[in-house]
Parts: sequence; structure tokens; C-alpha cells
Amino acid sequence: MKCYHHPDRDAVAYCSQCGRGLCAECSDAHNPIMCDNCAQLAVQQLVDDYNEIIRKNKQKIRTIHIIIIVTTILVTLGFWGIARSPIAALLTGVPTGIFVGWEIAGIPYGWRALNNLFSNLRFILILPIIGWLIFYGIKLGLAAVIGIVAMPIEYFKMRKVINQNQA
Ligand SMILES: [Zn+2]
Ligand SMILES: [Zn+2]
Repeated sequence: MKCYHHPDRDAVAYCSQCGRGLCAECSDAHNPIMCDNCAQLAVQQLVDDYNEIIRKNKQKIRTIHIIIIVTTILVTLGFWGIARSPIAALLTGVPTGIFVGWEIAGIPYGWRALNNLFSNLRFILILPIIGWLIFYGIKLGLAAVIGIVAMPIEYFKMRKVINQNQA
């Protein structure tokens, strides 16, 4: 067999992806051993995967922002109905709304943190339906509490990845 890139040279190795023959020089070009085509595809795959992570992070951050903005508006409007003045409604509604949004947006992050903590709790599968309801009720409550901290941690991690990409 001859080298895929140099038809005049004998192959001493094979591309780990497509199995094409490679000469000594070409087999040293990439690690693991790959022909130029497969190396290019591998790099492209890495770039695609990275861009996908960036896209998802931006989407998650946007979702957190939207939830907090929407709850802030709704809660402030709610306070507006009972408060004596618009100023009072803003002063109580805005911080309360931000906290409610923070809390709601944090639940999926708290839930995931719990999944990582209790991934070996398979025994609950044998619980009757009421046990499941209680389990998920407790889990949801815990997720809401843990999410208050877990969400901002993830939020700033995601922002960091996005900023590194733009740098
Ligand atoms: Zn190849
Ligand atoms: Zn070669």
C-alpha cells in the first residue's frame, strides 16, 4: 500500500479514521494518526461542538433574563393594584419580582444539581404512586432552594465561556 498523500511512498501506518495508508512523514502529522482529510473533519467537528455549546449557553442566559423580566413586570403590576402609590409599587414590586424570577429560573439548575447528588437513589423506583408524588414534591422544594445558588453559579460559568469565545 502507498501513502494516500504521496503515491510514490510506501505506507507505514493507517489513518485511524478511514484506514487510508500513510507514509512515515504523514503518520507523524496528526495525533492520533490521521490523514489530512480526517484531521480537517475532526477539527471542524470540534469547532461545531464548541459553537453548539456557545449557542446553548446564550439561549439559557436569555431564558433566565426573560423569566426575571416577566416576573418583575407581573409582580410590579400586581403590587400596583394594592399599593397606595406607583413609587411604593415599584419599590416593593421590582425586588420581589426579581427574586421570584430568580427563584423560578433557578429550579432547573437546582433540579440538575440534585440529580448529580442523588444519581444512585434508584430505590425510589419501587415506591407506590403516592411515594413518587411526595418524592418529587420534596425534590422540587429542594431544587427551588438549591437553585437560588446553583443558577447564578451556572449563569456566570456560561457567560465566561461566551466571553472567552468572543475574545
Ligand atoms: Zn483518514
Ligand atoms: Zn505521505
